[in-house]
Amino acid sequence: VAKKSGPGSIRFYDPAIQAEIEERTVLERDLRFAIEREEFVLVYQMQVDNHGHPIGAEALIRWQHPRNGFVSPGKFIPLAEESGMIIPIGGWVLKAACKQLVAWQADAHTAELVLAVNVSAKQFQQPGFVEEVATVLTQTGAPAHKLKLELTESTVLGKVEETIARMHKLKALGVSFAMDDFGTGYSSLQYLKRLPLDQLKIDQSFVRDLHQDPEDKAIVQTIIAMGRALHLNIIAEGVETQAHWRYLSEHQCHAYQGYYFCKPVSAVEMAQTCLAPPALA
Ligand code: C2E
Ligand code: MG
Ligand code: MG
Ligand code: MG
Repeated sequence: VAKKSGPGSIRFYDPAIQAEIEERTVLERDLRFAIEREEFVLVYQMQVDNHGHPIGAEALIRWQHPRNGFVSPGKFIPLAEESGMIIPIGGWVLKAACKQLVAWQADAHTAELVLAVNVSAKQFQQPGFVEEVATVLTQTGAPAHKLKLELTESTVLGKVEETIARMHKLKALGVSFAMDDFGTGYSSLQYLKRLPLDQLKIDQSFVRDLHQDPEDKAIVQTIIAMGRALHLNIIAEGVETQAHWRYLSEHQCHAYQGYYFCKPVSAVEMAQTCLAPPALA
């Protein structure tokens, strides 16, 4: 319900909307201090092959807000993108992930893991991004060929040539690329052919209802077939059941990530899980 209060100004009195606006404002302000206050941590979600063996992990950021408690990235990452805070936050993630890769090198159970890091469009497109990645790799000593950057289709949108050029520079450093949430954005087969990608990540929205929805089955099969024809590795996210896993592996998917195998966990738990992977039926 909107009421006029004075010329040209409209004020909202819907308490729910008001509360949401206030929460956003507070979160956006607090986001500025979250790095120095060390409120971010990374958790890791295992990725497995067709045998269920760990082959890598995705790093996912968590924000422990001093008053509000856990704030989901689905809420604060968009705020960080709008405010530009994603640049320092993304830099923090990259560095923390590379330090973790170095720690993993020390143990045979984790040494082969490839670590996937989410990169926002704005972060990828900032002028110094290639140099930043190079510097972080050198400073931490992380093996570049174990670092995978997850881009989304929004990164490419309207910036095809710049994105391709930048990806080639990063690939020359040794890092690889996955296209995250594939199928939900503005994919064009034209650019898919030209991007130096290594992996397509089937979005979890196509996996979730795989067994109720014949259209999701068709989409998943098509993505796998097309990806394979383009010599890309295919990973499915949001694999929650044995039936999901079986269907996907029967249809030639290469790798899997989801609650069926492992939830996102701390680095310590991740290492323990690699020592003794869960028995899968
Ligand atoms: P995403 O990159 O597509 O990550 C997958 C999301 O699906 C994660 O949510 C993960 O916890 C969740 N997930 C994994 N397996 C399952 C499953 O079996 N079922 C269901 N329902 N969900 C599953 P999360 O951690 O809440 O992250 C949400 C999104 O926030 C990410 O989606 C990514 O877009 C963004 N994000 C997370 N960490 C970062 C980061 O460090 N940098 C940037 N730029 N974005 C991040
Ligand atoms: Mg991702
Ligand atoms: Mg994803
Ligand atoms: Mg997703």
